[in-house]
Amino acid sequence: MNRPVAARCWVEISRRALLENFRAVRRATGDGIEVAAVVKADAYGHGAVPMARWLEEAGARWFAVSSVEEGVTLREAGIRARILVMAGVLSYEEEALAPYRLTPALHSLGDLERMDRLAAAAGRPLDFHLKLDTGMSRLGLPASEGKLLEALAGLRAARMEGLMSHFASSADYASLQTDHQVEVFQTVAAALERAGWRPPLRHLASSNALAYGRREAWHTMVRPGHVLYGYVSPARGEAPPAILSVSPVLQWRARILLTKDLPEGALIGYGGTFRAPRPMRIAVVAAGYADGVPHRLSNKGRVLAGGKPAPIVGTVSMDLTTIDISRSPELQAGDAVTLLGEEGDARLDAQQMARQAGTISYNILCGIRERVRRIYVD
Ligand SMILES: *Cc1c(COP(=O)(O)O)cnc(C)c1O
Repeated sequence: MNRPVAARCWVEISRRALLENFRAVRRATGDGIEVAAVVKADAYGHGAVPMARWLEEAGARWFAVSSVEEGVTLREAGIRARILVMAGVLSYEEEALAPYRLTPALHSLGDLERMDRLAAAAGRPLDFHLKLDTGMSRLGLPASEGKLLEALAGLRAARMEGLMSHFASSADYASLQTDHQVEVFQTVAAALERAGWRPPLRHLASSNALAYGRREAWHTMVRPGHVLYGYVSPARGEAPPAILSVSPVLQWRARILLTKDLPEGALIGYGGTFRAPRPMRIAVVAAGYADGVPHRLSNKGRVLAGGKPAPIVGTVSMDLTTIDISRSPELQAGDAVTLLGEEGDARLDAQQMARQAGTISYNILCGIRERVRRIYVD
């Protein structure tokens, strides 16, 4: 038997949308600022290799990933742009840095020493970006570290190409945390400069600091992820209007397996958590939590069916979700419904789904599982 051509649950990923978002970022930053496209976590579920290929063709010169392993995947797929590994290099991962031309972000004085030894032993320079912890208390060298200058002065083969940090609350205009982080970053950068260190790539901004125009955080490089995939997080407080207009790159669909008419009082799904309040027509859809549909959408979420919102009724199960299609009774087995995306004038995006599921859009996108077929379209 041949494998079926069509999928029962798939995402369509649009090259045009990705590149328009990328161009919107480049227009906003202008030519003087480098853009490192963040393609970690399989490009937030979109597929790191295809996204990096499209972006590289469109002129991307830098990518950012979380791990050495993600960097190696890009190199093995033929990506030639620079690759920044943001989330640390464990000792058993070090030896892949040079052969795969990966640029690590370093997070401690110990990292500096270790990378310098590695570079010296390999007999070639190694560029790194030093990450400062400017107040998020996660990765990065504490900005208060007094021995930094001494450590830098002791380097023989490792070269500081970049100085970076990361914001904890950059869409929160009700908080001063971001301003504080910018200030701390600038203080350290100025101290380094007085001592003769001025790494050419200085970067703090990811999507939010970009989208809300915090230009004082852009320096010479920005690291957008979320906006490239078409999302700007909602801001808190008195935020300026977003300066970027982007649209979702991914649409998520699944097919109806069966439709049926239920009498009033019928219990739907595991646990009988939904009782039909009236006679209703439902569809059983081929997508469940094993595909990434949040279980918390049980009796809460909705999809688009026949161009109209169709509420999820009953619990989301592993492979199946039941929806109320009383408003679109013409739908039949084999027809597709939309979990994320557009049908006519109706649209549903990952932020709406996230709100209903009590999570964030990043989590929805990264949660679309591998068995959901990726279909790449222009
Ligand atoms: C994920 C990540 C980014 C990108 O963040 P977005 O909000 O998706 O733009 C940038 N920098 C670091 C260090 C990250 O971990």
